[in-house]
Amino acid sequence: MVYFLFQLTLLPFLLSSTDEAKFTQYGHFYIYYVYKDEAQAQIAGKVLQTAWDEFNKNFNLPLDSIYVYIIRSPEDFSKFTGGRSPFTYGGVAKPARNQIIVKSPNLRKAGEDFAGTLRHELVHILLHRSGIESRIPLWLNEGVAMLLANEYQWGTRLKMSFIVLSNRLIDYKDLDKELVLSDSPDATGTAYVQSLYLTQLLWSKLGEEKFWRLLNECRVKDFPTALRDVSKMSIEDFIQEFKKSLWAVVILGALATGSIFTPIALLAIVAYFAVRHRNLDKLKKWEEEEREDEALGIRTIPWEHILSEPYDFEEDDE
Ligand SMILES: [Zn+2]
Repeated sequence: MVYFLFQLTLLPFLLSSTDEAKFTQYGHFYIYYVYKDEAQAQIAGKVLQTAWDEFNKNFNLPLDSIYVYIIRSPEDFSKFTGGRSPFTYGGVAKPARNQIIVKSPNLRKAGEDFAGTLRHELVHILLHRSGIESRIPLWLNEGVAMLLANEYQWGTRLKMSFIVLSNRLIDYKDLDKELVLSDSPDATGTAYVQSLYLTQLLWSKLGEEKFWRLLNECRVKDFPTALRDVSKMSIEDFIQEFKKSLWAVVILGALATGSIFTPIALLAIVAYFAVRHRNLDKLKKWEEEEREDEALGIRTIPWEHILSEPYDFEEDDE
């Protein structure tokens, strides 16, 4: 109670517009908005309550407060989200603070999905609260959010086929990094599509019941262990399944666009497998070289290790 009154008195000072700040409550959702977004606040309340009931069947969490901010200006969106661009993001969740910041439909391009963003950010909060978030890879965190929010489902395989054929497939080990550190919106988009595709693949391999069992086991164990316990699959097995599935994706992509019999489609498929073979050959060569180095006593440092370990001078003294 104190928290949301505090928020409401603070809100007008945070907002750059002179619009009147308002507040409404739907169950355990506290929604802040400016008066022009009255109707949107009501829609948000209904969408979130329905989504909570739908998702929480699998998470079984208590009804703790969630604070939602509907933002109407680009400046305020950056301010509330710690500098995120309103052109790239439709919304942002701050799970540790139980906050969802979402762009008002007024700030969106036509066709941008207000309800879908609310559902997506709510999933991030549920994954965090249940303790699952810290034990699963980021691609699965984003993938589950997209899967449950019903985002871009129909087009995933088609988009994947385009990614594969244009040789932009992201290596599994680089995927989480690309989701946060990619250098272009296009690369970020690719990383999100691939995350959703992998999540859909995991769902179809495991089935719904085991998929949820896997996530729930991640409340107490890390993802590779939970995956092995639930499905007898190692991460390596799963990556193999992923690579095998790309065959069908490429063919399906060509079929769906009706271009399977055109010379360009055939050429693209041939090119894909040629590139793949070349890469496999390259990998084999590297492995051989590494083995030779090891035999000579030369140690190679895995670059993941270099990236993940902070240097002493980078660590905060606070
Ligand atoms: Zn997300």
